[in-house]
Amino acid sequence: MMHQKLARAGLLTLAVALSTAAQAATPAATTAAADTAAKAIEAKMIEWRRDFHQHPELGNAEVRSSKIIADHLKKLGLKVKTGVAKTGVVAVLEGGKPGPTVALRADMDGLPVKENSGLPFESKATGTYRGQTVPVMHACGHDTHMAILMATAEILAGMKKDLPGKVVFLFQPAEEGPSDFEAGTGKTWGAKAMVEQGAMSDPKVDAVFGLHVFSGMETGTLAWRSGPLMASADSYSVTVTGKQTHGALPWRGVDPVVAAAQVVTGLQTIVSRQLDITKEPAIVSVGQIHGGVRYNIIPDEVVFEGTLRAFDEAMREDIHKRVAHTATSIAAASGAKAETKVTKIYDVTANDPELTAKMRPTLVRVAGEWPWTDNVQKSTGAEDFSELGKVAPSLFLFLGISKPGEEKTAAANHSPFFFVDEKGLIQGVRALTHLTVDYLHGGPATN
Ligand SMILES: [Zn+2]
Ligand SMILES: [Zn+2]
Repeated sequence: MMHQKLARAGLLTLAVALSTAAQAATPAATTAAADTAAKAIEAKMIEWRRDFHQHPELGNAEVRSSKIIADHLKKLGLKVKTGVAKTGVVAVLEGGKPGPTVALRADMDGLPVKENSGLPFESKATGTYRGQTVPVMHACGHDTHMAILMATAEILAGMKKDLPGKVVFLFQPAEEGPSDFEAGTGKTWGAKAMVEQGAMSDPKVDAVFGLHVFSGMETGTLAWRSGPLMASADSYSVTVTGKQTHGALPWRGVDPVVAAAQVVTGLQTIVSRQLDITKEPAIVSVGQIHGGVRYNIIPDEVVFEGTLRAFDEAMREDIHKRVAHTATSIAAASGAKAETKVTKIYDVTANDPELTAKMRPTLVRVAGEWPWTDNVQKSTGAEDFSELGKVAPSLFLFLGISKPGEEKTAAANHSPFFFVDEKGLIQGVRALTHLTVDYLHGGPATN
């Protein structure tokens, strides 16, 4: 399988190389220098990562992290803006020659998870999550994203005079959501707030790249796909209202418990019976359900909440309508009322097909002897990198960080046992530097 894939990659690389041969291309010496620099900075990057790991901060509270980042970027001579979207940092590197603008993004927040990794640099930190003190852990690997982008910035700053164009470094807060307010209250956060505050327009970004470390993929694997990569994520709540009565006299009231149970079951037919799942998959889940106070009283009300995932905007809107319609109609059949509220959280993260095709040879070059794939399975997780993709063509990569042989047993992102094999991080630096220099030079090198 691997040989076939590599052979196919070789042919495609050759085809793209021939078609772009007339354009200026990255000198081979530049990409070689980037790799040498990546090797040289690897140990320092791992130290940064361990420090971030030991001191994780929740979304919108990344004060220490953003200060370390801003100080580093200032030392590199970049123009640095702090306090963007609360704790975000935006830095611009002006190359010595004219050219396009590339943005690179890293997220900075940890999660309200109690770490159980047993590592010497395990987090003992706490934070405030919507008024409550909670343990905090970099359980999604955003510590590695910060360290990778700091290293990338240092390498690119070192080649500043030869770079044809600009590079914008985006260190964003609250990818996992804000710790200081609830979604659905009208306030924006994270990538969307960064965009609103001009992070992608001053200077105007022509292409944006980002990556996410993923457990379950072998260390150093780079994976991507053209088109939808990660799902949209929305939350919804359904309030089923009946009429309270004694549990022994159900005919005197309207039972919202039975109605809610029917609605929960009915919602399962949206994906299985109503959507064209040959187009894209989708998910309708219920995560919590509450009602009643005592075993022999039928309550007035039952409330349940869940999450909705889709990979296509039209299907997403359709699901929203079907959830409300299903709840209202099924509840009405027993005389109850149902009110549905959907809160949009993140849009579909899709890789721009043109940009993905254009940069494919770069990624194949970086992946080198590492196992790689250009058609990775979609993830039903969501990302607010999607907000950046609405403003400029975008490409998001997955980076494997599970030791060989442990891909199937490794704890997933967000687990208290989440583990990063740091040997994979250098591959993230290589991917981001190669993508940047190649894009600025007008396309992948022909070497
Ligand atoms: Zn996460
Ligand atoms: Zn994440």
